[in-house]
Amino acid sequence: MGNCAIVGINWGDEGKGRMVDLLTQDYDIVVRFQGGGNAGHTVINDRGKFALHLLPSGIFRDGVVNILGNGVALDPENLWKEMGQVTEKGVAITPENLKISDRASLLLPWHRELDALEEQRLADKQYGSTRQGIAPFYSDKFQKKTVLAGELLYPQVLKEHLLDIMAWKNLTLTRVYGARPWTEAMLDAWLEDYCGKIKPFLCDTGAYLKEASRQGKRILFEAQLGSLRDLDFGIHPYTTSSYTTAAYAPIGSGFPGAKIERILGVVKAYSTCVGEGPFVSEMFGPEADRLREAGAEYGAKTGRPRRVGALDLVATAYGVEVQAATEIAVTKLDVLSTMEKIPVCTAYLVDGRKTTRFPFPAALDQAEPVMEYMDGWMCDISGVRRWEQLPQAARDYVLRIEESVGCPVSCVSVGPERGSIIFRHKEK
Ligand code: GDP
Repeated sequence: MGNCAIVGINWGDEGKGRMVDLLTQDYDIVVRFQGGGNAGHTVINDRGKFALHLLPSGIFRDGVVNILGNGVALDPENLWKEMGQVTEKGVAITPENLKISDRASLLLPWHRELDALEEQRLADKQYGSTRQGIAPFYSDKFQKKTVLAGELLYPQVLKEHLLDIMAWKNLTLTRVYGARPWTEAMLDAWLEDYCGKIKPFLCDTGAYLKEASRQGKRILFEAQLGSLRDLDFGIHPYTTSSYTTAAYAPIGSGFPGAKIERILGVVKAYSTCVGEGPFVSEMFGPEADRLREAGAEYGAKTGRPRRVGALDLVATAYGVEVQAATEIAVTKLDVLSTMEKIPVCTAYLVDGRKTTRFPFPAALDQAEPVMEYMDGWMCDISGVRRWEQLPQAARDYVLRIEESVGCPVSCVSVGPERGSIIFRHKEK
């Protein structure tokens, strides 16, 4: 069966976490390879309801090894707190089932502060950051102004390195933003309170994955956010600061030679978008409010109401292409069950011309949606477990996605619970 990546096709929040939670039964290792605690996967299973931000979603399965790769923004404080929330509910986290790359850069304590200061400075032009320090972290990583998690095992080197970076960063904090500087005492407290705690979990995840792969173990790569938030291929500048694409998974996990045979792109049955930026199929008013309520579309990390819209086949086709998805999971189909007519964005009008090609970011503001309305099914489908038991209108809706984006839909999710899923290949 080989390795698999589960990735978002749109703006994120597609329900990747529930798909990883479900599919971990077939894999030995789950790896988070990018991003940080700036988004959340909501997972509901027999252990309870969890909002995961950094921990891989395989943490709930006995025998599954979870890895935080070198590509993640490793925030020791948030990670330690999240580990506490999960263990509180009886889930064991040990160095056997959680391994952290020694090559992951640490999100430093000033990154969150810098994120908030910059958003404040931008005022009404802000990016809509979750203020988790992700953009300052990745820009510092590329400037080589972070420390590697493995340096925690070399305390002398670490301390001097951190003090050098702190002196440099204090220039920005005080002179650019007029904020207070960080001190050595503050840094020591952070090291003791959080960094020391994650030390036992550090390892060379690249070597681990390579050996596991040689032994025939199967790896599941878990992405955060979606294609349209990818740093290089997304809706610049309203992207995240990391690579959300499956192609980056081998690098961000520490095993550049990994082969990924299966790329499962997760598509939500309608669109949502957190934060700022162009969103062509956006819906407003009472229709949007009803959809937001039906789908409980509030940010897992921030609680912010998500912007909602019609399924956007133009953006989805682009997202599938960027991810090189080999199959699609359509989630939250049940949320549309009360809509008599379901809007679908099938093309864009750009400069008066109709196109199904996703435009260059700077042209997105001018794009207008071309909408079609498909028949709804107007009945509860949350209990359906077989493809042929879905109402014809629901099947037509799913098939419309498949035809438009040129990628097979292998499963359809009709509820947040682990078992609320319809696998199509079993019926074929
Ligand atoms: P992720 O970051 O891609 O994992 O997505 P989120 O966790 O932010 O958002 C997905 C939300 O939808 C979570 O609250 C899930 O529990 C929920 N969810 C996932 N699949 C379904 C589904 O098929 N139906 C319904 N009603 N909710 C779902």
